Amino acid sequence: MKKEGPKNPKKAIIYYYIIALVVLLLLNALVFPRMMQRQVSEVTYNQFIADLDAGKVSAVEENESEGTITYMMKDENGRERLYRTALINDPGRVDRLLQASGPDGAAVQFGGVIPTQASPLMNLLVTVVFPVLLFVLVGQLLMRFMMKKMGGGNAMTFGKSNAKVYVEAQTGKTFADVAGQDEAKEALAEIVDFLHNPSKYNSIGATLPKGALLVGPPGTGKTLLAKAVAGEAHVPFFSISGSEFVEMFVGMGAARVRDLFKQAADKAPCIVFIDEIDTIGKSRDGAAGMGGNDEREQTLNQLLTEMDGFDGSKGVIILAATNRPETLDKALLRPGRFDRRIPVELPDLEGRAAILKVHAKKVMMDENVDFMAIARATSGASGAELANMINEAALLAVKQNRRIVRQEDLMEAVETVIAGYQRKNKVLSQREKRIVAYHEIGHALVAARQSDSAPVTKITIVPRTSGALGYTLQVPEEETNLLSREEAFNKIATFTGGRAAEELIFGSYTSGASNDIEQATRLARSMVTRLGMSAEFDMMALETVSGPYLSGDAALACSEGTAEKIDREVLAIIRSAHEKAAGILAENKEKLHELANFLMERETITGEEFMEILHRE
Ligand code: ADP
Ligand code: MG
Ligand code: ZN
Repeated sequence: MKKEGPKNPKKAIIYYYIIALVVLLLLNALVFPRMMQRQVSEVTYNQFIADLDAGKVSAVEENESEGTITYMMKDENGRERLYRTALINDPGRVDRLLQASGPDGAAVQFGGVIPTQASPLMNLLVTVVFPVLLFVLVGQLLMRFMMKKMGGGNAMTFGKSNAKVYVEAQTGKTFADVAGQDEAKEALAEIVDFLHNPSKYNSIGATLPKGALLVGPPGTGKTLLAKAVAGEAHVPFFSISGSEFVEMFVGMGAARVRDLFKQAADKAPCIVFIDEIDTIGKSRDGAAGMGGNDEREQTLNQLLTEMDGFDGSKGVIILAATNRPETLDKALLRPGRFDRRIPVELPDLEGRAAILKVHAKKVMMDENVDFMAIARATSGASGAELANMINEAALLAVKQNRRIVRQEDLMEAVETVIAGYQRKNKVLSQREKRIVAYHEIGHALVAARQSDSAPVTKITIVPRTSGALGYTLQVPEEETNLLSREEAFNKIATFTGGRAAEELIFGSYTSGASNDIEQATRLARSMVTRLGMSAEFDMMALETVSGPYLSGDAALACSEGTAEKIDREVLAIIRSAHEKAAGILAENKEKLHELANFLMERETITGEEFMEILHRE
């Protein structure tokens, strides 16, 4: 999908201009001054007197500070030239000069300044204007040539966007092409419905979000989903990728955005899709880089202006996709812009099997292929990776002169593709999956076996965008504002439950608990320093919080000795919570195994499923 030019024309052009500038400066410093200076020939004083007497000299200038005499006369070819000689102390010279006559019998111009430089205007033209014009011209030709070679649009038509117009027949994608991603599809279906019958929404006074932002890791089908929306809605689909803006001339980005939206307004109802929006929508308060930053900012500002200028009832929906939502400028996420976020996460077991099936339709597949088995072996793989696996399997079959893809081709393809991605640490190995499953069940079991802790609502070992390998979601039954000492302590025990499970089952532990450690420590620390929940310090405030509404930093307000005691107290709390968790898990080891196996099998389980197994005899 991506345009992969071997060269980035914008970069090449920048190099070209830098080199041109250096050449220009060198010319100006070394070559032009000599070129522009009139040739002056050195002659002897005798020669000067002889020329003067011969009546050939037309003008003479004496320069006492330099100790030179410069004079002008015609050479053999009749061209006026300059000659220079030493200013010799010769008392008779002045009289001689006054009496001498020049070529046409006129008096010799004496003492007047003889211009040794060409006229300043000419100077400027030759040394600056011409070379710059020449370089720019060559640069433009070069750019045009490169753009042509890359098969891109014509860079010379300033301000005319070459946003491609995709109509339904061209995207050819529908929701049926997107497997899994049911939540995302549901959210987008609403948008499709709006484009079909806007009156239904307008008559009730509802306004639909102008823009929706598809957020998720690479290869999860964001671009595919956007195309499917266009296919479902049967409306024109304008798409542009953020990275295309970056490769353009200064001022082009903003012009393109303007043009894109103008086209869209003419064709409404329609969909405008901005892929990889992070490339233009990066937060503006970041470190300002080189000139390119300005360009991006202009483009972003234009985009914001256009979005604000749109009247939602017109039926222009703006979709955008990004894998790095955290870098986006806040202005983009304000209400009336991309106010709706549609998460597009990595597929779970069912999702993976479904994606495999969708792509398997395109190849000749053995009827007995077990997609579930493949899906099980590929937790953490994205849709794009799964599509790639099917293709690899087909290639393997071809290599062996077979006309049908078999299970073993698929298994082998999984290995090749996973090996390719495992370096990036994305796909969990079977062993890692086991560890993560026990870890998460550890949290959940400790939580469930303690009174005063929120019920578990979801456990998953599908890796998240955030980088977490799994998580256990607990939602309290009711909103509470007060935290009792027991609840706080139980929470810490729950945090330690993951590590405790790893220790119990594997006799060792992994780095997977780093976030738990952080959270447990933070809570234990505030129990001691701010909440008055430790035996040692009673209700003594040991920390002051500055700017609590800005989640300001807490500063210790105590002596050094006390700080040490605090650390010991915090450690004691965490240690006893950890022991409690270990005790709970040891008592429930059977259930731990049973639940972890179930989780490994399903990858995502609900709170009810968890409770059902827990309470099963
Ligand atoms: P993203 O834009 O999120 O990086 P793409 O939409 O470009 O990902 O997905 C790349 C390819 O991966 C798609 O063209 C499709 O073949 C495949 N793919 C990804 N997700 C899915 C899915 N949910 N169902 C079917 N195919 C998918
Ligand atoms: Mg994409
Ligand atoms: Zn954990």
